[in-house]
Amino acid sequence: MPRIAILIVAAGKGVRAGGGVPKQYAPLLGKPMLRWTIEAFADYPNADIQVMIGLDQLALYQEAVAGLSLRPPGFGGATRQETVRRGLELLEPEAPDFVLIHDAARPFVSHILIDEVIAALEAGADGAVPHVAVSDTLRKLEGGKWITVPREGLLRAQTPQGFRFATILAAHRAFAAEEVTDDTAVAELAGHKIVATAGETNNMKVTTPEDFTTAQIFLAARLGDSRTATGFDVHTFGPGDHIWLCGLQIPHTHGLVGYSDADAGLHALTDALLGTIAAGDIGMHFPPTDERWRGATSSIFLDHAAGLVRAKGGAIVHVDVTLICERPKIGPYRDAMRAKIAEILKIDIGRVSVKATTTEGLGFTGRREGIAAEAIATVRLP
Ligand code: MG
Repeated sequence: MPRIAILIVAAGKGVRAGGGVPKQYAPLLGKPMLRWTIEAFADYPNADIQVMIGLDQLALYQEAVAGLSLRPPGFGGATRQETVRRGLELLEPEAPDFVLIHDAARPFVSHILIDEVIAALEAGADGAVPHVAVSDTLRKLEGGKWITVPREGLLRAQTPQGFRFATILAAHRAFAAEEVTDDTAVAELAGHKIVATAGETNNMKVTTPEDFTTAQIFLAARLGDSRTATGFDVHTFGPGDHIWLCGLQIPHTHGLVGYSDADAGLHALTDALLGTIAAGDIGMHFPPTDERWRGATSSIFLDHAAGLVRAKGGAIVHVDVTLICERPKIGPYRDAMRAKIAEILKIDIGRVSVKATTTEGLGFTGRREGIAAEAIATVRLP
C-alpha cells in the first residue's frame, strides 16, 4: 500500500469573505472551513496530513483543529508556490510515495475523488488532477469587443492534485523562481506527464461571500438529521450586587445563588444542547459535588455541550433563550448576550435569539424571588 501525504495549503490571508478572519477560518455551520477540509481527509487510510498556515495564524489554527491529532503545522511563504515548497520540504524526511496537494478552500472533497487521483498515480502517472467540464458559455473581452470562446476542450482543474512525491519536490525546487498558478503547472514545467481524473461539482472552491452561502446550504442538506430540544433552569436571588446572565455580568440589587456562577440562561441553553444529542443534563456532566465547578463560569458548560455536538459531526443551527424575571431589565443587554452566546457556540449571531418576559407579578419570578430561563436549540447531525 503506498504511503500518502496530504499537504493542505491554508496560509491565505484573504479576509473579504471570512467576516474578519482569513476565510479558511470562517465558520461554515459553526465549524471553521479548514476543519471541514481536514476532516475530509482525516479518516482516509494511510494518509499523513501536513497543514501549512500563515505566520500569524497559529492561535486560529489551534482553535480550529482542537481535538484532532495532526502533525505540527508548517508556516507558509509569501506565495502559494513557496508555501507548497516549504510543505514538501517538511514532508521529505517521511519520504512518502505520493503527495496530494489540496486547497483549504475546498472542504467538500470526497473519498471517491481522492481514490481516483491515487489510482492514477498507482497506474504510473507522474501527476493526476481532477477536472470538471465547463458548462457555462465562456466570453472574453478582445479589442474592446466581447466574443464567445468555444468551450470544447476546456476543463476546470480542482484539487487535490496528486504527484509522485520525489518528482514534485524536485520540480518545485527547480522552478522556485518561476511564477505559476498551481502545482500541475510546476510539474509541467519540469516536463512531467499529468493525467486528468474525474472531479466533482460539489468539490467547490469557497471564495466569495456567495460561495459561503452555497456551501452552507450544501452542508445543511448533508446534515439531514434535525434535532430540537429544550432546557429549563431557575436560580434564587440572594445577597450581592450583580448577577451573571447569558454570559454577562449585570449590576443588580441582588446576586443569584448557585454552585457555579448561577447563570440560569446559559444553564438552560446547555441542557437544551445536551438534549439534542440525548447526552443527559448539565448536572450529569458537571456534578455540584465536584469542587472544580464551584464558582465556575458557565461558559465552560455551554462550550462543553457545543463540543459534544461538533464531535458527532453536528452543527448548531439555532438557539433561543427566554429569560423570565421582573428585574433586571434585559432589553439593554440583549444584543451583548446574543454576541456572547454566539462567541461561545462559534456560530453567527443571526442564529442566536435572546428574549425576556415577566410573569405579571405572579409566582416566584413575579415576587422577585429568582430568575427562570428556558431555552430551545436546533442542531443538524449527519
Ligand atoms: Mg442552574
